[in-house]
Amino acid sequence: VPAKPQNFLRGIIERDLAAGTYAGRHWAGTPGDAAHQAAGAPDPARIRTRFPPEPNGYLHVGHAKSICLNFGLARDYGGICHLRFDDTNPEKEEQEYVDAIKAAVQWLGFDWKAQGTSHLFFASDYFDFMYRAAEALIGAGLAYVDEQTPEQMRATRGDFNTPGTDSPFRARTPEQNLARFREMRDGLHADGAMVLRSKIDMASPNINLRDPALYRIKRATHHNTGDRWCIYPMYSYAHPIEDALENISHSICTLEFEDQRPFYDWVLDRLCELGLLAQPRPHQYEFGRLNLTYVITSKRKLKQLVDEKHVAGWDDPRMPTIAGLRRRGYTPEAIQLFCERIGVAKDYSWIDYSTLDGALRDDLEGKAPRAMAVLEPLKLILTNWKEVFGSEAHLEPCSAPAHPQRPELGTRDFSLGPELWIEQDDFKEVPLKGYHRLSPPRFGDDGAKVEGTLVRLKYGYVVQCTGVKKNFAGEVEAVYAKLIPDTKSGTPGADAVKTKGVITWVGVHDALPAEVRLYDRLFTEAQPDAGGRDFLSVLNPASKKVVTGYVEPSLASAKPDDKFQFERHGYFVADAKDHAPGAIVLNKITGLKDGWAK
Ligand code: ATP
Ligand code: MG
Ligand code: MG
Repeated sequence: VPAKPQNFLRGIIERDLAAGTYAGRHWAGTPGDAAHQAAGAPDPARIRTRFPPEPNGYLHVGHAKSICLNFGLARDYGGICHLRFDDTNPEKEEQEYVDAIKAAVQWLGFDWKAQGTSHLFFASDYFDFMYRAAEALIGAGLAYVDEQTPEQMRATRGDFNTPGTDSPFRARTPEQNLARFREMRDGLHADGAMVLRSKIDMASPNINLRDPALYRIKRATHHNTGDRWCIYPMYSYAHPIEDALENISHSICTLEFEDQRPFYDWVLDRLCELGLLAQPRPHQYEFGRLNLTYVITSKRKLKQLVDEKHVAGWDDPRMPTIAGLRRRGYTPEAIQLFCERIGVAKDYSWIDYSTLDGALRDDLEGKAPRAMAVLEPLKLILTNWKEVFGSEAHLEPCSAPAHPQRPELGTRDFSLGPELWIEQDDFKEVPLKGYHRLSPPRFGDDGAKVEGTLVRLKYGYVVQCTGVKKNFAGEVEAVYAKLIPDTKSGTPGADAVKTKGVITWVGVHDALPAEVRLYDRLFTEAQPDAGGRDFLSVLNPASKKVVTGYVEPSLASAKPDDKFQFERHGYFVADAKDHAPGAIVLNKITGLKDGWAK
């Protein structure tokens, strides 16, 4: 077992492995009942975990935590992790989501094909077994059909202080219940007219054990089973069965399900006693869900952002979906690193967004080629070009390493010419104290003449600012400077002229125009949906800004999804959908430094 940060789940798994808790299992290859489980070969997996999304939306960064956890545990302990679509709720589920979820899991770097077999499952494939198990529970007097209205059921459930009261239908015989349940299945009753309930204890201190429902009537077409069923199992009944049929050993879920665990155990223990499932059965363990500042992790709310067009789709680069993070330029490695760093614990806490950004920077720092880009262009005119180089048409070749620590990546070539693009910010007509970039000659407060500043053009020459060109409205149109000969970077004596400022630039003659999308947080509040607040009321109106900038010629060969570090600006990615050679479109991933900490 590789050295990984220890957490309570690893402790549980290591204890179970040492005790041989799951050593006696069999695996028939296809999920099946107790007979299948007994007939199969010894299970080749030492543990089995599962990631069980409901295909009712795209996965988000919270799901990434669960994916990294479940697939990571299986990888580290010689186990297998299943991808299971928890598709027992016919109305909200769609094939588009199934496909998107598969793509997200694979992109994150995980694979449900392990040890030569695919471990991709659909809960709806177990509807027959779930139905048979329900009939068995009815036969054993452990379930009954309740014809109370939903309101009556709610009213008789009691609350934390008051025990519930028995339904008048609770005393029916197994035969009566079985007949009624089959009528439900055969479509003889209206949606909502009755439910099948477990028969546990209406006075239990745990409200989740007060005869929770097992089946409801719902006429809805299911993406997998079509119109075959008009009754569907409830999540809390279906989930433990899904786990057991798939030989899951450690069923890991978020803390909200802690109160459901006794019912999870009840379902599995009763079905083992009835001979439908085999021991050793799965056990549920809970961890704290991921809450990330400035982010919403609820599929329902993310769907609302998409449906109401507050964003451009599930993969809008501002979305915390895996598809959105991917398009924004986050890498699978960065997300995995993030999940490792935040760890898992049994508590409810908020993680600062800067933790995710930090992981991205740590991943891309060593990978992303460097480049120069100018995002808010201002023209710099070198007035003595012809004097120095003999011709206005001369271009002075420059080069820079693709990555300062990785010489094997080679160099980028570009050239200096008489006209350059620089950042508007790199010029101030009247500089504040401590400003070391371009400013023209002027008279100081004491009336004395102050020279124009000396600045190094990175990888190029030192220039001295000589003046400014303005239009009739007084707006700056261009900056004038003269080039200081014999100061070219990398040549002997280049440092003879000292400068306090270094600026980045691109040549007007060889720079490529680029659409650059600058993204900011989607919400203005760190906990957008806290305390029942309408998260739409705190949408950041300035979450997307589009500028036209210029990038150095090395980006001519950029392909969609290529990532760069623009010197002084941060990390950028060529947009996966809109970028094409000849039409550069870039998304800003994040800055060079943490811009999230307040
Ligand atoms: P949502 O409320 O966004 O719809 P969900 O939990 O209902 O999320 P599922 O598709 O059922 O969505 O989730 C699949 C798995 O992902 C579950 O095991 C769930 O525990 C886990 N998961 C969902 N959200 C988070 C989160 N924020 N942090 C960690 N795990 C999560
Ligand atoms: Mg769910
Ligand atoms: Mg949910």
